[in-house]
Amino acid sequence: MAIHLAHKICLDPTYKQEQYFRQGCGIARFTWNWALKEWKSQYDAGLKQGAFDLKKQFNVIKRSEYPWMYHVTKYANQQPFIQLQTAFKRFFQGISRYPRFKKRGHHDSFYIGSDHIELDGNRIRLPKLGWVRMRESLRFSGKVNSATISRVANRWFVSLSVELDQAPKSCDSQACVGVDLGIKTLATLSNGESFEAPKPLNKFLKKLKRMQRSFSRRKKDSNNRQKLRQKMAKVHARIANVRRDSLHKLTSYLTDHFGGIVIEDLKVSNMLKNHKLSCAIADMGWYTFRQQLEYKSQYKGNYLLIADRWFPSSKTCSNCGQKKDGLKLSERVYRCEACGQSLDRDLNAAINLKNLLYKAS
Ligand SMILES: [Zn+2]
Repeated sequence: MAIHLAHKICLDPTYKQEQYFRQGCGIARFTWNWALKEWKSQYDAGLKQGAFDLKKQFNVIKRSEYPWMYHVTKYANQQPFIQLQTAFKRFFQGISRYPRFKKRGHHDSFYIGSDHIELDGNRIRLPKLGWVRMRESLRFSGKVNSATISRVANRWFVSLSVELDQAPKSCDSQACVGVDLGIKTLATLSNGESFEAPKPLNKFLKKLKRMQRSFSRRKKDSNNRQKLRQKMAKVHARIANVRRDSLHKLTSYLTDHFGGIVIEDLKVSNMLKNHKLSCAIADMGWYTFRQQLEYKSQYKGNYLLIADRWFPSSKTCSNCGQKKDGLKLSERVYRCEACGQSLDRDLNAAINLKNLLYKAS
C-alpha cells in the first residue's frame, strides 16, 4: 500500500514569478466563482448539470472572454471544476458544507498537475514561467503527483503531493501525527493524546525557582552564592535526566505507532516571551527530543518532518486555515472567529503540524 504525503516547501520567487503566482491564484479563484455561480443559477433553473458540463461551457467562451487566462498554466482554470465537483460530492454526502465563493486574501492557491512540473534539487520548473527557487529540496523519494502553489501571509509555498516509493519498514500504522511540545504538558499529539510532564520535574522546577530567588538576593562573589550556583547546576542536571527519560518514552511511542511524524523547529518568538528558566529547559528538551526522534525514526523507518521555523502552528486555525495576527501565551484555547472552531491551543498547533504531512487518500 502506497503512502501519499504532502510536503510543503517555502519558495523564493523573483518579482516576475510572484506576479505569475498572483495571476494563477486570481484565475483559479475567478474560475471557481464563475463555476459556482453557474451551478447555482442552472440548478435554480431546474438544470442539473455537473461541473464537467460547466467546464465544457467555460472552455467554449474562454478564448474570447478571458484571453488573459492563457498567461499561466491551464491547470489554474481547469482544476477548479474538478475541485467543485468534489466539493459538491462531499456536500451531498453530508461531509462538507455547501461550497462557498472564494475571496482574495483567504483563498490564494492554484493547482498544477505532475505533467507540467519538473523538480531538480532546490528548484521547481513551472509552465510558462521557468525555474523557481525552493528553500529546501523534496525530502521524500517517490512519484510527485501534483503541486499546489499557495500564499500564506506574504510567503509563497509549494505543496508537493508525493506517492512514496516504500512504506515505513517497521511501523504497522500508516497514520501521521503532529507533535506540539510544551512545558507543563510535555507533548500534545494531533490525535488528541497528550503526555504530561513527569511529576518530579515540577518538584525540581519549584526548588530551582526558590534557589534562583535567593541566589539573586545574595551578594555577588560571596561564598554562599558560589555554593548555591553549584547546587543549582545539580538540580539542572537532575531535571535534564528526568526529562531525557520521559522524552525517551515519548519518542519510542511516536516511532512505534506512527508512520509519519511532524514536529516543529525551535520557536524563537516563543522563547523570547517565555520566562528564562522555562526557556532553558524547553530548549534543552527540544534538542534532545529532536535528536532522539531523528535516530529512532532512521532506525525504525519512520518519516520525520521538521516544520520550518516560521510556520505559524499556533496562530493558524487547524479547521479553516484562518491566521490570527497575534495569540497571547495566556490564551490556552484557540477560538477561531472565521469558522467558530474552539479547541485547546496545543492541540490546534499539533493538528496544523500534522496537516503539513498528511495522507492524501
Ligand atoms: Zn477557523
